[in-house]
Amino acid sequence: MPTAVEGIKAASRGLLGTLAEELANDAPDFTGDATNLIKFHGFYQQDDRDIRRERASKKLPLEYSCMVRASIPGGTVTADQWIAMDNLASEIADGSLRITTRQGIQFHFVHKPELRSLINTLNKHLVTTLAACGDVVRNVMADPAPHAERANIDLGHYARELSASFKPTTRSYYDLFIDHESAASAVDAAPQIDALYGETYLPRKFKIAFAWPGDNCVDLYAHDLGLIPILSNGLTGDVQGWIVLAGGGMGQNHAREGETYPRVASIIGAVGVNDLRAVGEEVIGIFRDFGDRTDRGRARLKYLMDDRGLDWFITETRTRLAARSAPVVLEEAPALQPWDNCDEHLGWHPQTLAADGTGDRYFIGVHVESGRVRDVAEERADEHHGQVRTALRAIADSGLVPEFRLTARQDVLLCGVNATDRIKVENILRAHSVPLAHHYTPVRRLAMACPALPTCGQALAEAERILPRLTDDAANALDKAGIGSQDLRINVTGCPNGCARPYTSEVGLVGRGKRTYDLYIGGSVSGDRLNKRLVADVHVDDLGPAMSTLFDRYSRERTNAKESFGDWSARVDQAELLASLPAPTKKRRATSEADAE
Ligand code: SF4
Repeated sequence: MPTAVEGIKAASRGLLGTLAEELANDAPDFTGDATNLIKFHGFYQQDDRDIRRERASKKLPLEYSCMVRASIPGGTVTADQWIAMDNLASEIADGSLRITTRQGIQFHFVHKPELRSLINTLNKHLVTTLAACGDVVRNVMADPAPHAERANIDLGHYARELSASFKPTTRSYYDLFIDHESAASAVDAAPQIDALYGETYLPRKFKIAFAWPGDNCVDLYAHDLGLIPILSNGLTGDVQGWIVLAGGGMGQNHAREGETYPRVASIIGAVGVNDLRAVGEEVIGIFRDFGDRTDRGRARLKYLMDDRGLDWFITETRTRLAARSAPVVLEEAPALQPWDNCDEHLGWHPQTLAADGTGDRYFIGVHVESGRVRDVAEERADEHHGQVRTALRAIADSGLVPEFRLTARQDVLLCGVNATDRIKVENILRAHSVPLAHHYTPVRRLAMACPALPTCGQALAEAERILPRLTDDAANALDKAGIGSQDLRINVTGCPNGCARPYTSEVGLVGRGKRTYDLYIGGSVSGDRLNKRLVADVHVDDLGPAMSTLFDRYSRERTNAKESFGDWSARVDQAELLASLPAPTKKRRATSEADAE
């Protein structure tokens, strides 16, 4: 039987539902079906979990607010768009912008009466929230780095094209948030049927990313649909076609082990340069038509592909492509360029020439811890934290940087800088104590975390707020092992949904209870291999000693300095490794989602 959400979508009249009335009333929260439909418009309703218990004990209602997500294909915004978003962070949200792990921007603690103003203002600056969440194609990602050797190819261009093709055609978003006056009349409007999505949209979310050959900075294998350009001359030249991957996904559920799991995407073939939209439509169409609508926990393309088999999926894709009015052939994919790295593109790099063909340009990648663009109080500023928000705003205001590009590792690339202006940009960063990339130890620079508490309703444990402690523990453990400058990727999430992609990282920490994490090891540096859970339910106080043991053994047992921690930990005997960990000092405090507050 279809889930209740399927009924809500079908009855929504193009995602309108009761949203006009809900937005107009004085209640602090959305109710009933509206709490599902708001996601398609780009926001979730949340409550402040730091004060949930206290308010409940005083019999007060929850402290509601919304997380609003801007969808930014390829992660590219102009300096003017950055300024507009920075203004909104102060005027309407909690004074921060959060760069997401999928190149979007989130605003936190937005209250219901201010939603329209926020979304309306974003749209005035050509930034949309439509389909940033919900059972649709989410923000389309692309490797954002404009390296000089990529002169004639901007993957963001293709991301923007696909994104525009796969936006829901609903009018309700515009009626509700752009043209307020028409919202009331829209209540009586005829139902709209979306040509791609139909009445019930997709069974769940669908994620697309573009990677540059050999550089998997976008974590391509974690996506439902992954695309790599086939270039006419190795790493240069024109795009001749696309290698297509499908069926990646991170989320799982602690209570449904075995039934739910992360999966890396499989190569399904290659298509011609002009066939992007066609292959996207058909893969999305297969998910729309065959995806599980009876169980949202398994409503992802990865399960459909595993349940029916990769051969079935490829045949179905081929058949659908061949049946199009302009038939498309899904061919055998050529060999992949080896994944040399998973570069975070920090520091200075030569860029392409300016659009008018004049002058050298450069870009600088600036690390933003957990993507949280917020100033640290001056007394807390140290070698790792500064006034990053004020610095980025000053740079946007200065006119020195025309374009900001957000990365999948939650950092920002300041693009299009004149050679002579480089020192001015650096001086602004220094004046606000924002460290340059080489000032970070690698483990701090490469770590990622999802927001988790206090905003995410799914969080079982801390992630973003505990990341500095965890990276300090890891840095100390690496120092003790004599390998303090070792590159190491640690991804932390507050629950098994895996928003910060903890299952393809070298070390993954996945929240299980209030203070406990499952510890995964063995992902590859290039993100094309799943890691494995070494131990479940480790108390946060025991993670430092566990990492000390692991890193000490790694430093002594690796074949050479080039062998990554991920590769070493994937090849050693897991049972023996587990037995070598120190005994836990803390009793586990939680056993399941039910134990979290
Ligand atoms: Fe929330 Fe879980 Fe996603 Fe973290 S991984 S943001 S806790 S849903």
